[in-house]
Amino acid sequence: MSAALTAQHLGLSVIVAEKEEQYGGATARSGGWLWVPGSSMAKAAGIRDSVDEALTYIGHEAGPYFNKARAKAYVETAPEMLDFVVENTPVRFELFTGMPDYHPNSPGASPGGRCVYTKAWNSRPMGNELSRLRQPLQSMTAFGMQIGNEDLATFVTAGRKLSSFFRVMQLLLGNTVDRFHGRPPSRITSGRALIGGLAQAATSKGTQIWTNTPVRRLLLENGRVSGALLERNGRHVNLLARRGVVLATGGFAHDTQLRNQLLKDSMTDVGTNQVAWGLLPFGVTGDGIRMANGAGARFDDKVTEPIAYSPVTRIFNAEGDLSLFPVFVGRAKPGQICVTRSGRRFISEGCNYHAWGEALVKATKDEDETVAWFVCDKPSLQLYRMAAAPPWPMPFGHLVRSGYLKQGNTVRELAENAGIDPDGLEDTVGQFNVHAREGRDPEFGRGENVYDLANGDPDHRPNPCLGPLDRGPFFAIKATAGCGSTHAGLSTDENACVLRPDGSVVDGLYAVGNDAVAITGGKIIAGGITIGPAMTFGYLAARHAARSTVQ
Ligand SMILES: Cc1cc2nc3c(=O)[nH]c(=O)nc-3n(C[C@H](O)[C@H](O)[C@H](O)COP(=O)(O)OP(=O)(O)OC[C@H]3O[C@@H](n4cnc5c(N)ncnc54)[C@H](O)[C@@H]3O)c2cc1C
Repeated sequence: MSAALTAQHLGLSVIVAEKEEQYGGATARSGGWLWVPGSSMAKAAGIRDSVDEALTYIGHEAGPYFNKARAKAYVETAPEMLDFVVENTPVRFELFTGMPDYHPNSPGASPGGRCVYTKAWNSRPMGNELSRLRQPLQSMTAFGMQIGNEDLATFVTAGRKLSSFFRVMQLLLGNTVDRFHGRPPSRITSGRALIGGLAQAATSKGTQIWTNTPVRRLLLENGRVSGALLERNGRHVNLLARRGVVLATGGFAHDTQLRNQLLKDSMTDVGTNQVAWGLLPFGVTGDGIRMANGAGARFDDKVTEPIAYSPVTRIFNAEGDLSLFPVFVGRAKPGQICVTRSGRRFISEGCNYHAWGEALVKATKDEDETVAWFVCDKPSLQLYRMAAAPPWPMPFGHLVRSGYLKQGNTVRELAENAGIDPDGLEDTVGQFNVHAREGRDPEFGRGENVYDLANGDPDHRPNPCLGPLDRGPFFAIKATAGCGSTHAGLSTDENACVLRPDGSVVDGLYAVGNDAVAITGGKIIAGGITIGPAMTFGYLAARHAARSTVQ
């Protein structure tokens, strides 16, 4: 959508073809975070950063897979892209200085100031168009209302802070007014606010978004991509593209053949576990990658990890439908740990979501299921929440009844109810508690770096991330290592042009987002590290296409 907006802005005619009924893909489901080192907002806030520092960090993390030209194009252009979006759309961002880079001790890492998130806005100007914007994950809503980045802390503290309580009441009132008028919640936030705003601006300038319109294949003329074959209203349409085709079909999450091939040595239950893959829309089936391969493109799977992991838990809602809840942050609250079926911890719970998934996959490689449990005691649940189980005063009895939240009066009873080894869990909790009271975690060093600390409770002493689990009842929630995005993808250059195995450009073809190989070489290095590059390379692709010769 950022490519569409930019191209339209530069005077090109743009059609966005979306195979599903609603557009927005995973981006609309996302938190709407972008990693933009050196943004205007960061500069205005007095944060010192530089292109070199950011490149040092990416280079260190990507290791042998570092592509300096692409990384440089990204870091140099992302701030400009962000300003362009703010100037030309209703989308607004907030700088979040409390989010350090995920490997804060690596060279070039920043303790905070490179991440922005998309703020909520009132989508009423979108009118009926709102119905074509992808819905949020149901588990990320309350009373049908989207809960965004700026709302999360407010909802969690509504039971103990008057200002939060009144803010929640205000949001609920707005939602009730929308319902009274028979319209969907008009306040959109996070990834929906991002995609909705980009789409609103692009369509108001003339871009057409054709939903229910899958692209079936690329049209080729003398080795150049000259357009695409679309399926629209039951008919095949040859769409000729004078400047180019930008692939943004979201990667290969639901291409079972490709993912099984790439992940054969890691996730044991790969291919069968819908919970692991269900965070990403089912329309993301590797189409862009397959079509580009047909045009002679190179698929680059030389990455540290072909996918990015995210802890995910499954909820059954009132209708019995499966609903997934990702646990990206907040795993290092005092009184909470995470264990495998053996009852043993496997990493510092404060680590980033991808590291958590990698560690779980490794820890469970000889087991049938890639699963872990978040475990806490009642005071911790009531104060902080755990995964989708809310804090006091919100009720959680329905989650116990549905089996999402397992309960036990003792640690042993909890383990037996949840299917965790009781001896292992008792032993782990016993040892963890001794050290947690002293604010230490000799096993995994939880709470010893700025990223862990950002996920703890700053008001808790002596260590914001550590507290014992000693006041029952005790609770557990089963989780698995889900897929949050894919890393392996098409080889592209610094303008997002798709490359052949010999390094030459497939003229007329661009790939962005998860269709292109990740600039991090297959690591998740910061919040917003997929959407930041996706939008920046969309912006670069459109500018390159606008400069190209009309065919
Ligand atoms: C819950 C969640 C939260 C996340 N939060 C963040 C975050 O805050 N920041 C961040 O950087 N990353 C985040 N991620 C990861 C991020 O959302 C994705 O990596 C990113 O949105 C992918 O963008 P994309 O443009 O590649 O694909 P998508 O946004 O998935 O778009 C691809 C679109 O292409 C369509 N399509 C597929 N095939 C065809 C075809 N043949 N013809 C026409 N259309 C087709 C699909 O239907 C889809 O709508 C999050 C992921 C999840 C699951």
